[in-house]
Amino acid sequence: MPRPIVATIDISALQHNLAVAKSHAPHAKAWAVVKAQAYGHGLGRAIRAFAEADGLALVEVNYAVQLRELGWTKPILLLEGFFDADDIPVLAQHGLQFAVHCDEQIALLEAAGLDAQTARFDVHLKMNSGMNRLGFKPEVYRAAYERLQKLDCVRSITMITHFANADDPANPDLPLAEQVRRFNAATAGLAGAHSAANSAADLMHADLAYEWVRAGVMLYGGTPGGGTAKEFGLRPAMTLESRIIGVQEIGPGDAVGYGSRFVADKDMKIGIVACGYADGYPRHAPNNTPVIVDGVRTGTIGRVSMDMLTVDLSDIPDAGVGSRVVLWGEELPIDEVAFAAGTIGYELMCALAPRVTVQEKI
Ligand SMILES: *Cc1c(COP(=O)(O)O)cnc(C)c1O
Repeated sequence: MPRPIVATIDISALQHNLAVAKSHAPHAKAWAVVKAQAYGHGLGRAIRAFAEADGLALVEVNYAVQLRELGWTKPILLLEGFFDADDIPVLAQHGLQFAVHCDEQIALLEAAGLDAQTARFDVHLKMNSGMNRLGFKPEVYRAAYERLQKLDCVRSITMITHFANADDPANPDLPLAEQVRRFNAATAGLAGAHSAANSAADLMHADLAYEWVRAGVMLYGGTPGGGTAKEFGLRPAMTLESRIIGVQEIGPGDAVGYGSRFVADKDMKIGIVACGYADGYPRHAPNNTPVIVDGVRTGTIGRVSMDMLTVDLSDIPDAGVGSRVVLWGEELPIDEVAFAAGTIGYELMCALAPRVTVQEKI
């Protein structure tokens, strides 16, 4: 029998969540963001579940090629653009759209000297509207646009930016409205479509859908913040479960696990679960991070180790070796586990380790 840890990916939940994304932006087209192997859910599954998306967006050039090989014929967008001159022929060969966010990328395109017979690129010119990650500042944006426009190999230019605080629009350090103002001002009068909305903007700011939204975490049933996934009508797409593989009875003064971080102050029954940080469970999860055993909610105790973690079974007398443990998913929102562990649902789904068996539910 294989080790009992299994991640179940619910294809109908992925489809449902894409429909939610589209319903919030009915007049826009939707990129389904599938970077990091579809946030840990698998590219092959993403292709099937997101057949209704207008395109797939990601950051890995090799995975973009893989999407073509798997049969995806609709648009594909590389959100960080290309990384090297050697990537440019790959973009042309596979019809990949790509972001352009810095002068170095434009210089590489110019140096490639491609004519319109060789390549017809749909380029997404990225503006740094305040996040200070990738992109051209508003004051040099127009010059970059004009430079791209001169290239024979560029067929269209979409104007894109990314929001830092779509889930927290009044953030005093960078209000959402200020990023929007800069984006609108610097793109005024330029021909082309616009794209800015991530999941948070899609769900909470319908006016920022422009022509294309870029939905990521919401497709997987994670909340981007600003409310719970359930409040947004999203369904969890990944359920991670395992089983209890050992039980210990301990008493006052007995310590559990590496570093003896947990010391019992009473008689307790504890269960050892076949799930550790090498499966993608966060090692920094504190005592009492929620888990569900045989349908009953309890918490972790002691340090998470590589292949195991420990849970309190004191109030679940019938639980024992073989009991089903849900780490996150259908009965336990991934964001709740993430919050307890001081991270976000995004990180947990992306960290699902290759050794975990994955099964599908249609
Ligand atoms: C990851 C990403 C998105 C999707 O963000 P979510 O918060 O997961 O919806 C959108 N746009 C860009 C540029 C991204 O890198």
